[in-house]
Amino acid sequence: MAKTLCDWSRKDIAKRADLLAGILADPSFVCAKCARCANSKKALCSPRKLAFAETLPFDPAAKKKSPAA
Ligand SMILES: [Zn+2]
Repeated sequence: MAKTLCDWSRKDIAKRADLLAGILADPSFVCAKCARCANSKKALCSPRKLAFAETLPFDPAAKKKSPAA
């Protein structure tokens, strides 16, 4: 197979943006080395199963509590 996402150069990214979108959609794996995400293990050099936290600690929506309108 081709090189992993981790090995993509900026040129690769620009050239294969459509393929990238497919690899990144609904990601289930994260690279423990490069912090990249993908929905295929094969796309990462050091894949780890990805589990989403329920709330992001830096979620801007959580801070922005607008007064009841
Ligand atoms: Zn990697």
